[in-house]
Amino acid sequence: MIRVVMLGTSASVPSVSRNLSSMGVRYEGEVYLFDCGEGTQRQMMKYKLSYAKTKAIFITHLHADHYLGIAGLCHTLHMIGRKDILTVYGPRGTVRRMEGLGCNYEFLRVEEVGEGVVYKGEGFSVRAFPVEHGRNALGYVLEEDERRNFEKEKCDRFGIKGVMFRELERKGEVEVEGRAVKIEEVTKPKKGKKIVYSGDTRACRRVEEEAKGADLLIHEGTFGEDRREEADEREHSTVADAAELARRAGAKRLIITHISNRYGKVDELLKEARKAFDKAEIAKDGMEIMLK
Ligand SMILES: [Zn+2]
Ligand SMILES: [Zn+2]
Repeated sequence: MIRVVMLGTSASVPSVSRNLSSMGVRYEGEVYLFDCGEGTQRQMMKYKLSYAKTKAIFITHLHADHYLGIAGLCHTLHMIGRKDILTVYGPRGTVRRMEGLGCNYEFLRVEEVGEGVVYKGEGFSVRAFPVEHGRNALGYVLEEDERRNFEKEKCDRFGIKGVMFRELERKGEVEVEGRAVKIEEVTKPKKGKKIVYSGDTRACRRVEEEAKGADLLIHEGTFGEDRREEADEREHSTVADAAELARRAGAKRLIITHISNRYGKVDELLKEARKAFDKAEIAKDGMEIMLK
């Protein structure tokens, strides 16, 4: 099961109800952060996502509202005697930026990444892709590996039992009464879950391609249509852009985040988004999504 927690959903500056950008993912007992705006560690405490379990942080781009929280989080981890490696992945320039924050802890690794797979975990991977927001901005896809589920009826028919299941999973086939049974004969493939995180970007082709069939798309939607010009100028999306893109991509669910603090109530934004995609939601801090 994958637990996704929206830790911070505000653009540029925080407000009383929204902290700066961060999304946490809990997978098999470990925590992965996508962006880490100022105050993220406290949001993790508030929304019960163990900061001590943070294994990796993926930074989308080097605007301060997306990475300043790393300094505070690392300091706290140092105070509690962190020994396990914590890796920060980010675009070109991330190493210097982390040095500038005074982050030179023994447990910390910083890796600058470009397009492609940047992290391979147990049962899933994270890959980066370019988006359109200044120079070197990235989006990320977290995708589970494909699995195979045993089909009881077929297993019974072939006489698969006990330790044979383990062997089938390990070797891809097992011998039953002199006959080799292949794993494909008794299982069916189960596609892994796919989560796409756009980071800051104008709505672009690349995000749409990556979001094809995604179980969850987290897309920025800084403004409403009333600030269309500003969105275009600053390479941000409107909520309608995000919703339109999600619909075209066939995403199963859309959470729109990175909301400008000029919007107090979001009813109007939600209306604009739902016009294009009825499964659109506007994020709020602490919002939780479970994918099974
Ligand atoms: Zn931002
Ligand atoms: Zn930005």
